Amino acid sequence: MKYDVCILGAGPAGLSAAFELQNSGARVILVERHTTPGSKACGGGLTADAMTAFSRMTADCASNDEALVSQLAFEPYQRLTVYSGGVGVPDFIHRLWCATAHTGNNDIGFLFSSRLRFRTAYMHVSSRVHWQSHLLKSLQNKGVRVLSGMRGIGFDRKSVVLSNGSSVHADFIVAADGSKSRCRRQLGLPSAVGAVCRQLRIPRSLAADAANAAPSVWFNHDLFGASYGWVFPYRHELRIGCGVPTELVHSAARLKSAFFSWLSHLNISWQQGKLEGGSIGSRYAGHRFGHIFLAGDAAGMASSVTGEGIGQAIISGAEVAREILQSNYRSSIIPALAIRHERTFGVLSQSRPGPALYRYAAPALRFPGVASLAIRKFS
Ligand SMILES: Cc1cc2nc3c(=O)[nH]c(=O)nc-3n(C[C@H](O)[C@H](O)[C@H](O)COP(=O)(O)OP(=O)(O)OC[C@H]3O[C@@H](n4cnc5c(N)ncnc54)[C@H](O)[C@@H]3O)c2cc1C
Repeated sequence: MKYDVCILGAGPAGLSAAFELQNSGARVILVERHTTPGSKACGGGLTADAMTAFSRMTADCASNDEALVSQLAFEPYQRLTVYSGGVGVPDFIHRLWCATAHTGNNDIGFLFSSRLRFRTAYMHVSSRVHWQSHLLKSLQNKGVRVLSGMRGIGFDRKSVVLSNGSSVHADFIVAADGSKSRCRRQLGLPSAVGAVCRQLRIPRSLAADAANAAPSVWFNHDLFGASYGWVFPYRHELRIGCGVPTELVHSAARLKSAFFSWLSHLNISWQQGKLEGGSIGSRYAGHRFGHIFLAGDAAGMASSVTGEGIGQAIISGAEVAREILQSNYRSSIIPALAIRHERTFGVLSQSRPGPALYRYAAPALRFPGVASLAIRKFS
C-alpha cells in the first residue's frame, strides 16, 4: 500500500505530526525503532508552554485537559528551588554557605539558593514511556499504521528502506528520529547535536537529601557552562542530570567528572541508580528538503541552554504536518523558535555577563516577577 506520509520516530515530534495528519484524513504510517517508545534519557519535564502544545495535540483524546493530565499521570509542580554559585564567589561567603547548606560538605562553591513558588504549575512530569505508548495506541485506533521495532535505514525519492529490507512508499517523509537523525545525516546536513547530557535515575529512598518535594535546578558556570543541573522528583524516583553545550564540553571525561563531583556534593552514590547519557538536537539547518521534512530534535528544535525540547518537538511536528497538508503554507514558527534559541545561547554563553548571570541567578530570582520573566524569556 502507498501512504501519503511516512513518519520516522514515535517521539513527541512524530506523534504530533501523526495526530495532525491523521485528523485531516491523510494515510499515515509511523515507523518506530523501539517496541516501546519513550525510554530515552530525559528529565521528562513539560513547561507550561509545552503543556499547552501537548493539550492541543491530544485535544480529542480526553474530555478535557484535567482528565488527560490525570489519565497520563502527570504530576504538576508549582514550587522550584534554584541554587547558583561557582568559582569566584568570595571565600568567606563560600564558607558561610558551606556551614549552612542543607547538603553539608560543599566543596564546589554553590552559593545561593532560592525557593520559588508560582501561582500555577510551571512544570508537569510524567513517564514518557507511559504517555507515548498511550498516544501511540490512540493513533493506531484512529487508523494510523504503526510499525514498531523497525528502523528506517535508507531514504530515496518517495520511499523509505526499513531494517528488515522492505520498503515503504509515501509521497512525503517526516524524519522525527531524534538528535542523531539518520535521515538528516543522509541529507548531508551537519549534526543537530548542540549539547550532551548525563542523567542518573535513582529511587527516592536512596537520595534522601536531594529528595525534596520540589524540583530543583543548579546553576554553576564552572561545572555546566551555560546550562544547568536538574533534580526532578517523580513519585518513586529522582531524575538527576546535567547538560553542557557541545562548545563547552572539551571531552566526555570532563562532563562525566563535572556530573560526578556534583552528585557527590548531593551525597548521592551513582552506583545505586541507573546512569544514562543523551544529546540535545538544537542546531537548526532548515526543515524542508523537497519531499522530506525534519521535525523535533532531528530539525534541531531543542534548546541547548535549557535542554527543553518536548514542547518544541510537538510544535514543530504539527507545523511540518501543516506544510504537507497545505501546499502554500510555510511555517514561520519553526525558524522563529530556532532564532530564539540561538539568541538565548548567545546571551547566556557568549556574552561577558553570562557567567555572572549564572552565579547570581538564585538571589536575583527572589525579586518579584524575575522568575516568571526568566521562564518566559529563556524557555
Ligand atoms: C538527559 C536529557 C534530559 C532532557 N530533559 C528534558 C526535559 O526535562 N524537558 C524537555 O522538554 N526536554 C528534555 N530533553 C530534550 C527532549 O528529550 C527532546 O528534545 C525530545 O525528546 C525531542 O523529541 P523528538 O520527538 O524530536 O525526538 P525523540 O524523543 O528522540 O524521539 C525520536 C524517536 O525516533 C526513534 N528513532 C530513531 N531513529 C529511528 C529510525 N532510524 N527509524 C525509526 N525510528 C527511529 C527513537 O526510537 C525515538 O522514539 C532532555 C534530553 C536529554 C538528553
